[in-house]
Amino acid sequence: MNIVIFGAPGSGKGTQSALLIEKYGYYHISTGDVLRAQIAQGTELGKIADSYISKGQLIPDELMIDILDDVLAAHPESAKGVVFDGFPRTIHQAETLDALLAKRNGQVDIVVGLEVEEEELIVRLINRGKTSGRSDDNLETIKKRLDVYNSQTNVLRDHYKAQGKYEAVHGMGSIEDIFENIKTLIEKHRR
Ligand code: AMP
Repeated sequence: MNIVIFGAPGSGKGTQSALLIEKYGYYHISTGDVLRAQIAQGTELGKIADSYISKGQLIPDELMIDILDDVLAAHPESAKGVVFDGFPRTIHQAETLDALLAKRNGQVDIVVGLEVEEEELIVRLINRGKTSGRSDDNLETIKKRLDVYNSQTNVLRDHYKAQGKYEAVHGMGSIEDIFENIKTLIEKHRR
């Protein structure tokens, strides 16, 4: 089963993905984590990624897709199921993901949309910035990331709604309650 955890920056994608992995044992891909690992290692790719991430912009689609393709190829166990966290973020990425999964006889089975009000997102990200060490968890870049989300990523809700795959989850409240709701929705979409 392939699950997309979807939502704005600060909506709790990483937190809920970790719980899903623990429960279902699928392979976790956080594209943000993959890019940050490259930055930490000081690779050429990391330098390119950092030039976008620190400005709150998206990495260009073709580069991001190549990276994702490489990660999937390097982890054959991902064929059993993946939790996609932070991907796709554009319509082009979503269409490419469909093609990538179709090659392995798979598909996106469910898109879990964590819905959180913008004021709350900003508070959470500012708080995270106190300890995360991330170059993009500061107010100016947070605002830019929310703009990018609203202009390029949010359209995916309608894209996946039209396919009957989008399930909205109220992303406020306790982590455990949110996870309970997600589990119920996943059972509904299980193949
Ligand atoms: P995240 O950890 O998901 O908040 O991602 C942090 C940053 O990594 C984003 O603001 C983008 O600059 C970059 N990034 C992560 N995933 C993607 C993606 N699917 N497409 C383009 N850029 C991405």
